[in-house]
Amino acid sequence: MSGSPRFGRVLVTGGAGFIGSHLCRRLLDEGSHVIAFDNLLTGRIENIEPLLGHPRFEFEHYDVTNFLYVAGPLDAILHFASPASPADFERLPIQILKVGSLGTHKALGLAKAKNARLLLASTSECYGDPQVNPQPETYWGNVNPIGIRGVYDEAKRFAEAMTMAYNRHHGVDVRIVRIFNTFGPRMQLHDGRAIPNFFRQAIRGEDITVFGDGQQTRSFCFIDDLVEGILRLLSCDYVGPVNIGNPEEMTLLEMAQHILRISESTSQIINEPLPPDDPKVRRPDITLARKYLNDWHPEVSIEEGLQRTYEYFREAVLKEAQSDA
Ligand code: UDP
Repeated sequence: MSGSPRFGRVLVTGGAGFIGSHLCRRLLDEGSHVIAFDNLLTGRIENIEPLLGHPRFEFEHYDVTNFLYVAGPLDAILHFASPASPADFERLPIQILKVGSLGTHKALGLAKAKNARLLLASTSECYGDPQVNPQPETYWGNVNPIGIRGVYDEAKRFAEAMTMAYNRHHGVDVRIVRIFNTFGPRMQLHDGRAIPNFFRQAIRGEDITVFGDGQQTRSFCFIDDLVEGILRLLSCDYVGPVNIGNPEEMTLLEMAQHILRISESTSQIINEPLPPDDPKVRRPDITLARKYLNDWHPEVSIEEGLQRTYEYFREAVLKEAQSDA
């Protein structure tokens, strides 16, 4: 590595989470000094274990809804703290609302104090159960504010509003990414999302639980492509919001079938009730990402991404079986 790093000293909130830990790794590889905060509610130390001895890595077990203190200068803040699986929406509703509102406020306050650029991890959930497909950033969404998913959707919509208010009112330098479904190694085996559930069930030979008739669609992006898009957004001049996701749309039934094939499983697919307000379609319009992020688009095919994810989940299932024994 030669010259100065692209991003200097960076704070990653939610640094022990699925996406946060991949960002920390990538930033360290690029030469940044990385400070990760995480209250380990859904993040896990094992995600960042390989980074703990790194001379440019610091970890603080901290809840970012409280006052944030970081010694020394800070160039960027990547605000990724939040539970994000639909299974968490029922389990952790208040924590989700607090980290999206209070946590975003604290992160923006720190960005203002340090004159740092803040990148907000927002979400395709801002579009709710969309009546427009694919979803461009100009679509305002179809969200049920009092539904079970509302705690996450509205927390992120509030976070976007707060981020833009700090930008307009205080001149804080901000970026907003709207992240669509993402998958890859370090997802939690039990986080309740479709891909971890399907892999866990397929590997163990249990029934694959497809909710509803499985005709609802999603568009799944491999984690490495997402991280690349986020870092391009962090280093470009465009505030956003920018969708980052894979425009290849498929039904959940198709995804279950892919996972059965890749894991060579004989599990049966069964249908369970569709959760309330579950979006019927989801697919990003990535025109803006292509335009502002140097033609960003997914490079890793679904097939390759699923293969790499399968290897990770096979290990994770084995580890869990050994620790249960
Ligand atoms: N889903 C499913 N079986 C599961 C978990 C989820 O069929 O065991 C469905 C869920 O209802 C949704 C889709 O898969 O339609 C994607 O769900 P996920 O939890 O991965 O994320 P979401 O896109 O809903 O945020």
